Amino acid sequence: MALDRASPNFGPRIKADQEQGLSLLVIHYTGMQTCAEALEHLCDPGAMVSAHLVIDLDGTVHRLVAETHRAWHAGKSYWRGISDVNSASIGIELVNPGHKFGYEPFPDPQIARLIEISEQIVASHHIPPAGVVGHSDVAPGRKADPGELFPWNRLAKAGLGLWPAPENSEISENPWTDLALIGYAVPGDPSRGGAILEPQTAEKDVIIAFQRHYLPEAISGVLDLQTQKRIHSVAEELS
Ligand SMILES: [Zn+2]
Repeated sequence: MALDRASPNFGPRIKADQEQGLSLLVIHYTGMQTCAEALEHLCDPGAMVSAHLVIDLDGTVHRLVAETHRAWHAGKSYWRGISDVNSASIGIELVNPGHKFGYEPFPDPQIARLIEISEQIVASHHIPPAGVVGHSDVAPGRKADPGELFPWNRLAKAGLGLWPAPENSEISENPWTDLALIGYAVPGDPSRGGAILEPQTAEKDVIIAFQRHYLPEAISGVLDLQTQKRIHSVAEELS
């Protein structure tokens, strides 16, 4: 079921910042106790936030902003050379209380509906697997959603997003170069792919963002052997 509930919180997509076209799908959780509360917030002109779609626990879809418009969901963020993520993306919010109010696993009907809708979005806008990401991927340190309980592996089985092949066990020789290749903002000089990080964003935040997505069983913020192997495996999926 799809319900229309228009949010006033959107603007035109900005072409100058959209060289790659609409190339990203950003997944969020609402981080609020109920769907009603989240819809209220995302439609409040004073809140100045929104998303294109909200998916409730039972799979009900609420359409807030037309896909042609720039919804205000990502905030200050960066992915694969894009620093105006809102202009280049579709944003989907999943109802979940989030880390603040008792983080819960995402129910099956919600994920099934997300996959169905994402397949349509990715096909119609030609969004590559590397462009299907979480809010935490594009805003390390600042955001933790959709979080470590989000089933990225299940989405990848449907062709949505990258997921490493398990048999690959080589270590990344240049983990920061690989992280930049995957899409993350990396600290340091632009030859490493970035210098896009906010001054307050630490290298540790980027490692945590990577682990939250690709190594959710071991979120440490440490660039250890296991993490370097996983970084290599994910980067390999791009070559
Ligand atoms: Zn978010």
